[in-house]
Amino acid sequence: MQLTEEQLAFAQAAREFAQNELAPQAAQWDAEEIFPKEVFRQAGDLGFCGLYANPAIGGLGLGRLDAALVFEEMAAADPSTTAFLTIHNMVTWMLGEWGTPTAQERWGEALSQGQLLGSYCLTEPGSGSDAASLRTRAQRQGDKYVLNGSKAFISGAGDTDVLIVMARTGDDSARGISAFAIPADLPGIVYGRKEQKMGWNSQSTRPINFDNVELEPWMLLGEEGQGFRFAMKGLDGGRINIATCSVGAAQGAYDAARLHMSDRNQFGQKLDQFQALQFKLADMLTHIVASRQMVRLAAHKLDHGDPQASTYCAMAKRLATDLGFQVCLDAQQLFGGYGYLKDYPVERLVRDTRVHQILEGTNEIMRVIIARQIIDQGADIR
Ligand SMILES: Cc1cc2nc3c(=O)[nH]c(=O)nc-3n(C[C@H](O)[C@H](O)[C@H](O)COP(=O)(O)OP(=O)(O)OC[C@H]3O[C@@H](n4cnc5c(N)ncnc54)[C@H](O)[C@@H]3O)c2cc1C
Repeated sequence: MQLTEEQLAFAQAAREFAQNELAPQAAQWDAEEIFPKEVFRQAGDLGFCGLYANPAIGGLGLGRLDAALVFEEMAAADPSTTAFLTIHNMVTWMLGEWGTPTAQERWGEALSQGQLLGSYCLTEPGSGSDAASLRTRAQRQGDKYVLNGSKAFISGAGDTDVLIVMARTGDDSARGISAFAIPADLPGIVYGRKEQKMGWNSQSTRPINFDNVELEPWMLLGEEGQGFRFAMKGLDGGRINIATCSVGAAQGAYDAARLHMSDRNQFGQKLDQFQALQFKLADMLTHIVASRQMVRLAAHKLDHGDPQASTYCAMAKRLATDLGFQVCLDAQQLFGGYGYLKDYPVERLVRDTRVHQILEGTNEIMRVIIARQIIDQGADIR
């Protein structure tokens, strides 16, 4: 896929940002579990906090393909911090699409600039893959809503300022779900213990309890009953973003392994002179290029409103996160014992990319989405 001059310039700006602001500190943020708020503000100065959000709220209004170029460069240095930035972009985009004028005026610019940060709250203790079965309820009382329930695994929770919360306002079906954009510090919002994770350590993950939280009508996104559709539309782009983070991380791991192999001698020659290892590199690069092209194809379909865009997003997420994780594992193997040490970035890239196969819809659920189109809808996808 040929990129325009402008797209190449965006990618270059992101590469410089990644090299200057992310790469030098990523290992420390990971080791000390530091959520680098200041870096998100710096990213906001470059427009990276509202890449595809509506310009009316201060977003750049770019396409998903443009955003993918930026996220890929950043993820090569630090997938964890970049992944949070992608979630924040999803939240900002949702506010720009469906937020009321009051909500947009209150938070739009600040979210787009990274002055405020957002979380996306769909998963619950009892509803993960089966997200439409969520039980958190926003009960109408006069012109207000009263929110009760709990969310699980919320990225950034406790450190963010705005929550997009999917909650039931109607019946038990997906059409009974609404979405709200709410201040993260309303009375009755209680954050649970910070989860101890295998990776993604530069961002917090916490459960949230809502105990009789009073919501104003202006906090509703769109109309009652549209929330699940909004949540899924957000996730189409979210899946491209997570897939992109895997491509970037895989490229970072590949580059590191390539360099190591050109330096390290065993049996009297450089590692990169062993044909078995050359074949490994060849396969890794093939998988990175294939994933990148699949992700860009899905982004292009989403940008152009293709009716099968969601299917392509699922395919891209499944493929790029599986292959990206495998490439990181392969890079670790090529490093030998050094790949197991925290002195080198590959062990962090392995830990950070593992979760990409699990969240924003597991890769089994991606297959469910694709298979549904093939079997139930008889879609002719090629
Ligand atoms: C670090 C982290 C950050 C997260 N951040 C967020 C966030 O910011 N916001 C948010 O809302 N959520 C977030 N999540 C939640 C994440 O999206 C869910 O964990 C994920 O959707 C899976 O849900 P579950 O954990 O309940 O697993 P389950 O749904 O219980 O699934 C368990 C296993 O069963 C499989 N499975 C389930 N149903 C089917 C089926 N029909 N066919 C085949 N296999 C099936 C799954 O693929 C999985 O392998 C985060 C999770 C993690 C780990």
